[in-house]
Order: sequence, then structure tokens, then C-alpha cells
Amino acid sequence: MAQTKRDYYDILGVQRDADDAALKRAFRKMARQYHPDVNPEPGAEASFKEVSEAYEVLNDPQKRQLYDQYGHAGVNGAGGEYGNFGGFGSFADIFEQFGSIFGGAAGAPGRRGPQRGADLRYDLTITFEEAVFGSEKELSIPRWESCVRCEGKGAEPNSELKRCTQCNGTGELRKVQQSFFGQFVNVTVCNRCRGEGQIISTPCKECKGEGRVHATKVLNVKIPPGVDNDQQIRLTGEGESGPHGGIPGNLYVVLNVKPHAQFKRDGADIHIELPLSFPSAALGIQVDVPTIDGTEKLTIPAGTQTGKMFRLRDKGIPRLRSMGRGDQYVTVKLRTPSTLSSRERELYEELSSLSAQHGDGHERGFFSKVKDSLGI
Ligand SMILES: [Zn+2]
Ligand SMILES: [Zn+2]
Repeated sequence: MAQTKRDYYDILGVQRDADDAALKRAFRKMARQYHPDVNPEPGAEASFKEVSEAYEVLNDPQKRQLYDQYGHAGVNGAGGEYGNFGGFGSFADIFEQFGSIFGGAAGAPGRRGPQRGADLRYDLTITFEEAVFGSEKELSIPRWESCVRCEGKGAEPNSELKRCTQCNGTGELRKVQQSFFGQFVNVTVCNRCRGEGQIISTPCKECKGEGRVHATKVLNVKIPPGVDNDQQIRLTGEGESGPHGGIPGNLYVVLNVKPHAQFKRDGADIHIELPLSFPSAALGIQVDVPTIDGTEKLTIPAGTQTGKMFRLRDKGIPRLRSMGRGDQYVTVKLRTPSTLSSRERELYEELSSLSAQHGDGHERGFFSKVKDSLGI
């Protein structure tokens, strides 16, 4: 059996002689309070159903009379607790029928009322340095904007509004339907006046009644340090205005970072190649290495091989969503001279014969090892 049910008037917090307007006001207030989108508390959904049920009964003159006379028994017949609510199968239905309560905001599917404006995407190309250090950019965004003259309403200022004839100014359409469990009233938002109850008689001269105009908006966007390719910055409400006063969409700035000639990026780390001559690698040297902060001294020890990697701590890119910075990695790349002066040639030849005498020529060592392993 169903639990003891609360009195419908108590649920809505209205007097027993409350009129339609008072009922509607009370329901809107309660529905907003318990709307599952805004109230995450566990009991909210149940309260919302309770409130909806109470309103559905009291808002129907016939059901209200039965309820006043017989209490819950009068309206909860053979169909059980929710038997009479043929039109109230799910939340989606409830939102559909009372769509105007929550305005045109995003939410339940099939919602009527002013349409939300479109989201916009802006592809912004920035330099490597701008991505690393952050910057501020001025964007020109062509978009639909809310009309200033009519404040997005679409009506010429101070012009008269006519009562909507389709809904008689109530903003909703009521259709009495018969179901297995009895009669119920299906309430929908009036499509002619979009639930406003009023119709524009003189459209705004500026926007021709659309409530929005096409314009180019200049916006400043802050790019935080450490952003990377394909990341996007969301500017809430900077998309297009919706028609007839609908809330605006968002603007998404999608970043395209130009590659740098020297610095290669890997997340917050930077990689760079350091070309070295044979003598420098063999004897060791102190070099100036470019970093994003300027040059940094790096000591290359004697006998450094090609491919050797050195790390410069905290010389990388600021981490976008946490503290600190990445590192910079410097990879040694030995350069073989492609042309030699006669003096250089002399020296290299001398060096070569010296290496041979010492028996530490790489070629000889390498080939003899191969021979050994093959047993020849
Ligand atoms: Zn206008
Ligand atoms: Zn209407």
C-alpha cells in the first residue's frame, strides 16, 4: 500500500481557496527549488515529483473538486499512486509540459521557449613564445548580438503588446485528454507567443523583431602561460545571442601554436640539439645554450659522445594546471667537417696516424670484435 500521503495544499504551501495564479506561482517556486538540475540533494527528486503531482491535481478543476471532496482516494484510483498521471511518465515529460518555468536554459530535451544561441569556434594562431609566456590577444568576432534598441525583446520600444489569441494571454495551451484512468489535462507552452502570453504588434526597427543583430565584437582574450597546441579557451556567454532574447552560447578559442625553429616541445619539456665539433667533444668545452629565458652556460666534459643528453632543470615551460616548470634537454650532435683547409687536413692526418699507433681507432676495435664473434 502507498504510504500516508501529504496534503496537496500543504505540499504547495497554498490556502485551500487559492486561485489559479496563486497555484501556478507556488508551483513555479517549488519546482525551481527542487529541480534536479539545481538541487543535487538526494530528496530533491522525490520532492519535485510530489510538487508536480500536487499541482497537476489542484490545477485541474475537476480533479481538484474530487480531491477536496474525497481526499487522495478521490484522485488516486485503480491505477495506483501515480495512476492518474497518464501524461507524467518521466521527468522529461514534466519538463516538456512546464518548459516555460525554467526559461530557455539548456536542460531537458524538447524544451520550448527562447532558443539558446549557437556556440562559436575561433581558431587562433599564436607564436611559441606567446604559448610559453602567455599573452593577451584582441579578437574580432562576427556574431549575432542581442539588440540594444529593444533589449532583445524584438518589440519597438514603448510599442503595445497584443494579447496572444491562441492562448488568451496565459502562455500555455491546455488540452483535456481521456485516458484509461480518467481525464487529465495536458499543458504545453503556447507556440505562437512562446509562453509570453503577448505578441509583438510593432517589430523593432533595428532587428526587425528578431531581438538580435549581426555585429562584430572586439574581445580581449587572456592566454595563460604554458598552453599547447589544440587546447581551447572557453569564454562563457560570448557566443551568439539566441533569437528573441534566448541566452547566448559560448565562444571557444582553439589554439594553434606555431613551431619554433630551435626549441622542440614535449609537454612542459623543451628539447634542443647542440652541434659540437670533434675537438670540442674530445677536449671538453663550456658553451652558451639558448633557453626560453636567454642563454645558459653548460659545461661539456672531455670525451663526450654524440647523442649524449644534458638536462637543464626548470628551464622548460610553465605547467598550465600545476606549479613549476618543465626541464630543457640538450642533445649533443657531433658535426663532421665537410670541407678542410690544407692545414686542418694535415692535423687530421696526424691525428689519424696517432690514433692508429695507440690502437684505439674505433674502426679497428669495432671490426676485430665482429671478427671474434664470427670466429674468423
Ligand atoms: Zn531590436
Ligand atoms: Zn500564446
